Amino acid sequence: MTKKSSLRTRIEKRDLRVNETTGGRRRVKDGRKSQRRKNYNAFLCFARFAIFVLIAPGAAYAEQPGKALIVVAHPDDEYYCASTVYKMAVQLGGRVDELIITNGEGGFRYSTLAAAYYKKQLTNEAVGRRELPAIRRREAVNAGKVLGIRSHYFLDQVDRHFTTDERDGTKYGWNSDLITSRLQALIRKERYKYVFALLPRATSHGYHQAATALAASAIQALPSNIRPVLLGFDTSPARFEPSPTELIPQKWQPDYHFAFDRTTKFGFHDALSYQIVVDWMIAEHKSQGLLQTMDGRDPKEYIWVDLSSDPQAQKSADALFRLLGQDITRNGR
Ligand SMILES: [Zn+2]
Repeated sequence: MTKKSSLRTRIEKRDLRVNETTGGRRRVKDGRKSQRRKNYNAFLCFARFAIFVLIAPGAAYAEQPGKALIVVAHPDDEYYCASTVYKMAVQLGGRVDELIITNGEGGFRYSTLAAAYYKKQLTNEAVGRRELPAIRRREAVNAGKVLGIRSHYFLDQVDRHFTTDERDGTKYGWNSDLITSRLQALIRKERYKYVFALLPRATSHGYHQAATALAASAIQALPSNIRPVLLGFDTSPARFEPSPTELIPQKWQPDYHFAFDRTTKFGFHDALSYQIVVDWMIAEHKSQGLLQTMDGRDPKEYIWVDLSSDPQAQKSADALFRLLGQDITRNGR
């Protein structure tokens, strides 16, 4: 071997060592990279698990209530269940619809303030009866926006006059078969879990009693596996006594089951309450002068359960009001 070749060999060996060393460094570097990647993957895995653990209880909290249908005689009768509906539909994201039996033209006598607002002589009976159905329909839809009501169903039955006789509904031209079949078709289609109606006190408006009686009979005629629970709302906690002229047997207990407190405080500095929402709903029904006098008046909504509507009625009602949370008190607890 010449000096030259020996020198080349040394240089090559050195290069080789250098290359080996560099390669080694690269391998070390690659090793570190892959370790970092492993650590990163482990971190990602842990983060996903942590997010799941954090979200899971939230998902349970965000449980939505079952669907509800309000069944009432007049376009402003949702007043009696307004804050319960708001909590269900707006705050808990549940689905609430409203079926209104009459077109509400009977309320023309209290339309003095609305006559100026709508620029129509609404207190004149002929004008009021002609104009009010369309006005009240718009007012109901606007009030529904406040409460989170998704869909309205208007059955356009006559709203003749004030009465305390529940038989007056059918006597003065309500088409009971149409109301019953529309109600049953809706329940079958939408599978409502709850029907909200007005507690049919003998002293209350006869059309309110008739609407609740028709809801009760429509529900009772359905197969038991699709029957919603019928709930009766009132703003008075007085004991219930069935009307002596009750046409449809209903099983309302004397005492209310639940109460929703409209005065519950919430929001920044606890400055707000459900009364504000109820007042907004009232304000939308401008054609109804008497309703405007109810601003801030009724502090609670009291709820009765019709135990004849469904064998599981009490259990289903308990589930709903448990979900509505701290704004609800149960009678006797
Ligand atoms: Zn009414």
